[in-house]
Formats: sequence, structure tokens, C-alpha cells
Amino acid sequence: MMEGYKAELYSVDIMVMLVDDQAIVGKLVQNMLTEQPDISFHYCHNPELALEEIKNIQPTVILLDLIMPTLNGLELLKKIRLSSDSQDIPVIMLSTEDDPATKVKAFGWGANDYLVKLPDKIELVARLRYHSKSYIHKLQRDRMFEALQKAQAELEKQNIELLRLSQLDGMTEIANRRYFDECILIEMKRAVRNQQPISVVMIDVDHFKRYNDAYGHLQGDDCLKTVANILKAQTHRPADFVARYGGEEFVLLLPETDLDGATIIAEKIRAAIFAEQIPHQSSLTAAYVSASLGVTGGIPNSHDTPEIWLQQADALLYLAKASGRNQVQFAPLGATETNGT
Ligand code: GH3
Ligand code: MG
Ligand code: MG
Repeated sequence: MMEGYKAELYSVDIMVMLVDDQAIVGKLVQNMLTEQPDISFHYCHNPELALEEIKNIQPTVILLDLIMPTLNGLELLKKIRLSSDSQDIPVIMLSTEDDPATKVKAFGWGANDYLVKLPDKIELVARLRYHSKSYIHKLQRDRMFEALQKAQAELEKQNIELLRLSQLDGMTEIANRRYFDECILIEMKRAVRNQQPISVVMIDVDHFKRYNDAYGHLQGDDCLKTVANILKAQTHRPADFVARYGGEEFVLLLPETDLDGATIIAEKIRAAIFAEQIPHQSSLTAAYVSASLGVTGGIPNSHDTPEIWLQQADALLYLAKASGRNQVQFAPLGATETNGT
């Protein structure tokens, strides 16, 4: 039992630092510690140098003489407690007398213990071990806590990245359909609550099957990336939301934007895609890649659903296709009359 207890104690390295102007005290304490293999001893005779030596030696416990000619022990204690290098190191005050008033001061200034010089060996060693151990455990706890915090921060970062990736379309690096479905629901509810307009634009690349057939799938992918970049570049407001709806179809959600505003943006997008002049030799309607767009918007009411809005935008997109492609068709929600640009 005793052996096991000792072994546990010996597993931590204790570094005792004595600050005392009398060399004889240094010698006596050193002698008391010579038989303790796990206890190292450092003697500092000059209190003026103590702070520097504490920093270098990093003791696990400090024995501090109360009365020294150049720098009073209590003053030094104060400095030890104020320095970030030493503020948590246990300090045992060494005094020649057992004066209660001095004791009160010493504890008030942050001493951990108080011994009348010179204590017997057993008591001294026991106290040095006790304070060192609790300090070492505190350091270990701090280190573990720090590592835990670091791991937690890293995990949080990874979770945010995972969430971001789960919301993105891998190829075009814009939002995916799933994320769009979440956002449109939130934005429509907000628009109902605030009685603000909201618009939806559906975009579909014209004759894209033929493009793939003529240029290959890889070039088809590049073309879709270009279209996605144009969509991003043409939408400026922080709330504007671009997503890949599926295949060669994209969707734009424009909160706080009425149908007129949304139609202007849709027309800019149409023009920008065409102005890119991506050759499309097998298109049945133009020499370059073009897109057709359907736009609907207005102030939603509480029984409108995203599906209704998307269906209407899709119907308008279909109309744009049927009317010759490379154009925008728009209408307020629920309108049977449509308009094209
Ligand atoms: P329309 O003008 O009527 O829209 O004709 P379309 O050929 O574009 O329409 P359709 O819906 O018939 O074909 C869409 C094609 O888009 C089919 C598919 O080959 C292509 N496509 C869908 N997703 C991708 C993709 O991720 N990469 C590539 N390269 N092609 C895709
Ligand atoms: Mg298409
Ligand atoms: Mg399509």
C-alpha cells in the first residue's frame, strides 16, 4: 500500500525553489531534500533575482523567506502573484516567528502556506509534495482543458465546413436544390410576414442535350459552370440566392424584389449568357449557348407555397421555350396573362 502511494508520488517531478538571503538556510533545506530522488532543489539567495530565476527554473513550489534585507518577502510575494509566469505557483512563506498579523498579511497576498523556520524534515517534505502535486495537477488540467477547447473549436470548424458542403452543388459550387428548398420556405414566410414582394426566376439552358452531344459531357460541365458564374455575378444583394435546381436548370430567389425588378435581372442574365458567345453549333435556335427564363413575383399570401411559385415560374419558362428560346417570360403570381422580353 505504502509502496504504491510512493510510486505515484515519485511519478511527478518536483522542483523546489528557495528564496532566502541566508546561505545556511539554503544548505539546511538542501540537506533535508537530498534523500528525495524526485525532488530537485534550486537555491536563490538574492530576492532581486528571484522573479527571473522563477521564470527560468519553473519551480513547482517556492519557499520564500519573509525577512530579507534587500527585498521584503511579502513584497516579493506580491510580485510573484502579479507575474503571469508565476502567479499560480504555490508559495510557502518561511518565517522565524509565528506572528498572526504577518500570517494574515501573507495569506492575504496569496501565500499558500506558512512555516516557521526551520520545520522538521518530514513536515517540510510533506508540504512540498502536497503543494507541488496540486500545482502539477492544475497544470495538467489546464493543458487538458486547452487541448479540449482546441479540439472543440476544430470540430466546430469542421461542422461548419460540412454544413457548407452539404448545401453546395459540387460541380458549380453554388447552392444545391435541397438548400434552395429550405431557403425559399423561410424567405416566403418572411415575405408574408413583412408584406414584402419576393420573386423567383427559373433558368434553363437551351438545347443543352445537343450541346453535350456535340461537345461532350466534360465541356457541357464547363458550360454549366460558366452559366453558374454568370448567375452569381449578376446577383448583387446579400439576400439574392442562386441555386442549381437540377441538370442544366438553375433557380434564382430574389427576396424584397418585385416582378419588375426580377424581370430586369432575368433579362440581364439572359443577355450575359448569350454575350458569353459559347459556340453551340448544333443549337436549333442560335449560334451560341443561350437560356430561357421564367419569372414570377409579388407579395405572397399565407396559403401560397413555394411549389405554387416554382410551378408558375416553370410554366413561364416552358412558355419561353415554346416562344423560341433565348428569352424571358414573366407574370405576377396567379396571372393567366404573361409577358415576354
Ligand atoms: P431545351 O432547350 O428544351 O431545354 O432542351 P435541352 O436539351 O436543354 O433539354 P433537356 O431537358 O431535354 O436536356 C437537358 C440535358 O442537359 C440532358 C443532359 O444531357 C444535360 N445535362 C443535365 N445535367 C448535366 C450535367 O451536369 N452536365 C452535363 N454536361 N450535362 C447535363
Ligand atoms: Mg435545357
Ligand atoms: Mg431542362
